[in-house]
Amino acid sequence: MSDFRQDGAAALEWVAGYLEGMRERPVLSRAAPGNVRRALPAEPPERGEPFEAILRDLDEVIVPATTHWNHPRFFAYFAITGSKPGILAELMSAAFNVNAMLWRTGPAATELEELALDWLRQLLGLPEGFHGHIEDTASTSTLAALAVARELRPDGVIACSEHAHSSVDKAAKLLGLTVCKLAVDDEFRLLPEALEKLLARERIAAVVATVGTTSTTSVDPVAAIAGLCERAGAWLHVDAAYAGSSAVCPELRWALEGVERADSLVVNPHKWLFTPVDCSALFTRRPEDFRRTFSLVPEYLRTSEEEVTNLMDYGPALGRRFRALKLWTVIRSYGREGLQELIREHVRLAQLFATWVEAEAGWEVEAPHPFSVVCFRRDASDEENESLLERVNATGEVYLSHTRLRERFVLRLAIGHAATTEEDVARAWDVLRAA
Ligand SMILES: *Cc1c(COP(=O)(O)O)cnc(C)c1O
Repeated sequence: MSDFRQDGAAALEWVAGYLEGMRERPVLSRAAPGNVRRALPAEPPERGEPFEAILRDLDEVIVPATTHWNHPRFFAYFAITGSKPGILAELMSAAFNVNAMLWRTGPAATELEELALDWLRQLLGLPEGFHGHIEDTASTSTLAALAVARELRPDGVIACSEHAHSSVDKAAKLLGLTVCKLAVDDEFRLLPEALEKLLARERIAAVVATVGTTSTTSVDPVAAIAGLCERAGAWLHVDAAYAGSSAVCPELRWALEGVERADSLVVNPHKWLFTPVDCSALFTRRPEDFRRTFSLVPEYLRTSEEEVTNLMDYGPALGRRFRALKLWTVIRSYGREGLQELIREHVRLAQLFATWVEAEAGWEVEAPHPFSVVCFRRDASDEENESLLERVNATGEVYLSHTRLRERFVLRLAIGHAATTEEDVARAWDVLRAA
């Protein structure tokens, strides 16, 4: 092993240079399949190599074959940010290498997770009484919530709108549950009447309402859905993986109206709260039901502390890395005001982009855009829109993705990187028009 301080300084220098040079790189990797495998030895080295050799391969092989999610002109899927405070916290977290399965095996990691999630609860304007813990992804959070719902009502089905995220289907598949998809209104929001009808003929274990759907960021009417769930005794899980973070801004809290009545709620700080992947916050008003579902304590994990939280009791994984450190660091570094400023700016930029699209002949906005995602298309065939998107992404200037709405191919621009400026968004619009 070579000198840790020297290699560490070189690593930090490398990271700083990588971040600084971001705008010069093509957002979407131009690598062909197999490039990386061909460029690297197929067999492991016999003797340890110097860290410099690894840094060289990062530059020569890894960077060119990376699609740069940390690029300010990444506008595909949901744009995210590995912020600098978050990156540094990941370094510390690796140094601790804590496995916080039990309070005893990670007192600080356990208590910081409870604290950071309580800070997040307050930032989002959620009432007291919501218990929060961290899972790796929203997929796992939803799986965990639906597992609890199944424990309470094993013979029930899962209901969600046809615009709910595919992680609901995957969770149901893993849990052996059936999913009933409900119709949406003309703004892609779950129709409560459709849920009411389903409740009349099916026993429902859980309803998943989405705040910020993946295609259009539409918001299901959570309060109305909560009323129906309460009457039927069904679990209400709210998937706000992306849009939940917007509630940091009071003027956007309308989207979480009714969430205080949900049994569980997932918000991903790794989506729109500047925390590096992976960090998904799972809140519940029913922590005791989570413990009943997940607590399984073999002899070798028994400890004498009684009044402590053992986070392994709240989800599917036993081993838990110290993810709270990066969330806590990000919240401290930006503060409520800093987070609000960024989210407001992203919403402003998306609204501005939508006005450009609307003002241009031959282009159309395809869905309401309450947050930082705009769905739009050329007034042309699906094939033309699809090939337009290919040409735009091939420039390397920007990266956008697509969805399908009312059977039509639709382009999607998602703003969410902390360094994205109005100029970056204007560049996207220029590239789109030029293509
Ligand atoms: C992104 C997203 C997910 C999946 O998130 P992962 O953390 O990648 O599992 C689930 N639901 C919604 C609404 C999303 O936007």
